[in-house]
Amino acid sequence: MQEFVYGEIPVVPDSITDPDARDLDRAFMRSNLEGVQTEAWFHVFGCRRWVRLRRDTRADVVVD
Ligand SMILES: [Zn+2]
Repeated sequence: MQEFVYGEIPVVPDSITDPDARDLDRAFMRSNLEGVQTEAWFHVFGCRRWVRLRRDTRADVVVD
């Protein structure tokens, strides 16, 4: 296992108004952005806390 698990924080478009459709979008639609995206990271084998950060997926570096 990895020390951290992480993923992008889903942003559901405002154009989707049906609650079930919003749940589906949140669960399955990933933007797979090329660039800076906001992510949530969970420190599995450390402090077991969530941290929110911004990562540039092109260079795999954390920015600000
Ligand atoms: Zn930690």
